[in-house]
Amino acid sequence: MSGVPALLDCYHTMIFDPQPHEGDEVYCRQCGDYRTVTSAHASWTLRCSACPLARGYGADEHEARRRAIRHANKFPGHVVRIRKAGHVVGKVSASGESTTDLLEWLKDHPNHQSGLRSIVTKL
Ligand SMILES: [Zn+2]
Ligand SMILES: [Zn+2]
Repeated sequence: MSGVPALLDCYHTMIFDPQPHEGDEVYCRQCGDYRTVTSAHASWTLRCSACPLARGYGADEHEARRRAIRHANKFPGHVVRIRKAGHVVGKVSASGESTTDLLEWLKDHPNHQSGLRSIVTKL
């Protein structure tokens, strides 16, 4: 199959050929409804509530989450939102205001658990 995958605002992905534009309305067969293309490539970004941190990591979820955790640990009080294609999928802060999403991720990445113990024990 040729074409490019695009993420819709319902989190379903579809293969398009040619590549769609962000904001295009397309029919999602899985929803049975029209949805908006949020990004042709699911990009991961971080945004901090307390400082101007706002960075994109492309398709590198691993790095985005790692940086979010590091930032939250370094700057107490900062809540870092992890966004996938514009959707907030997780929050990280040193006070433990983290989502189950992060815990799920840790289960899949056990090699990160030791480094993240300070956050996880507060959950
Ligand atoms: Zn859908
Ligand atoms: Zn910050």
